[in-house]
Amino acid sequence: MFLLMGGDCAETFDSCTSTAITDKLKILLQMSLVMIWGMRVPIIRVARMAGQYAKPRSSSTEVVDGKTVLTFRGEILNGMDINERNPDPKRLVEAYFHSAATMNFIRSLLSNNFADLQFPNNWDLEWVKDEDVRLEYTEIIKKLADAFDFMNTIGENTHNSAMTSIDFFTAHEGLVLEYEEAMTRKLSPISTGNSKSKSSLKSSLSFSSMKNLTAAPSTEKKPDHFYNTSAHFLWIGDRTRQINGAHVEYFRNIRNPIGVKVGPTMEPEELIRILDILDSNFEDGRVTLITRYGCNNVDKNLPLHIKAVQKTRHRVVWCCDPCHGNTVTSPSGLKTRNLVDITKEIQRNIIIHRECFSQLNGIHLELTGEHVTECVGGSEDLEHHTLPTNYKSFCDPRLNYLQSLDIAFMISKHFSK
Ligand code: PEP
Ligand code: MN
Repeated sequence: MFLLMGGDCAETFDSCTSTAITDKLKILLQMSLVMIWGMRVPIIRVARMAGQYAKPRSSSTEVVDGKTVLTFRGEILNGMDINERNPDPKRLVEAYFHSAATMNFIRSLLSNNFADLQFPNNWDLEWVKDEDVRLEYTEIIKKLADAFDFMNTIGENTHNSAMTSIDFFTAHEGLVLEYEEAMTRKLSPISTGNSKSKSSLKSSLSFSSMKNLTAAPSTEKKPDHFYNTSAHFLWIGDRTRQINGAHVEYFRNIRNPIGVKVGPTMEPEELIRILDILDSNFEDGRVTLITRYGCNNVDKNLPLHIKAVQKTRHRVVWCCDPCHGNTVTSPSGLKTRNLVDITKEIQRNIIIHRECFSQLNGIHLELTGEHVTECVGGSEDLEHHTLPTNYKSFCDPRLNYLQSLDIAFMISKHFSK
């Protein structure tokens, strides 16, 4: 099983449109198909979506056009426009509305066969400049179509629910605790009594338990637990993971599967203390460690963190975020990331885990299904000077549609070696 997490650095209220949501869903589905095909493992899809409205900032003010203003903290709190930088509580309600609308739209897409795996031909490869890469992609898509065709010929119904619908989960950084608390409910998980779902509960990830979550009273009395109902999965950011901090205290008490971003400043002993708090019952997959060191730090930090965790009874999900440690400023002044660095951090993760008798279990990416020009490199070979042509992010630079596919192909090739 492999975890694929992806989405915007920060969603905006304006980007809550059918096209933007559909494009994001489409790229995540297509990436997962490429990965299932190449890696031959089930992929768990989790979107940074339907609630990714808050941003942690290193500094509370910044200078814009010679004026010192409050920093932008995500549309759940204030606006990007410098005249809208004062926090406005009405925005919390707006964020709730946009999250719910996004969620409803995703549900309706999925219940209307949007995820039907029969149509990989809809893939948009017009941007692929490199002829060899285009041939390689087309070849894989042709093979997928052939596989469906073969299954149909031998009478396997490829229009059954396993082929036409999928599990899809949402996630965001649990940053604004007042909002997250208001979304927290005491609920009972119910068991479906079906052996398939029981066995999937044993998997290294705990998402399957979320599917059985209901607010309805269960017939069997099960202990009640607190769940954050605004997302399936939430993570603690690298700036708010202090051992004695409020975020760790809140996350300790919710039963959702949770993540912790792990950057280069995390000491191995500190990591273990955080795990002791968040995973006090040593549950397989309760905590996902989302490592984000940067391609030049991964060799130094990752082995120490893996070895420290291996000495404990914590069984974590190891997930690589190759984006946040590789953000640089381009000559135009725009924040960017180079696919070469992103690729290097992922490949080093795969290798280092193997060398340490561990395994990389997932990937966490900032991406969009649109054709933005925010990161450099990839098979269309975006260069620094082209960044301003369609740079839309208010926050961190995202991989565009094709760059995201590039990464999916790269992981599936490298993972299977
Ligand atoms: C993010 O995921 O957008 C983010 C701010 O990450 P980190 O906490 O790892 O810096
Ligand atoms: Mn980000």
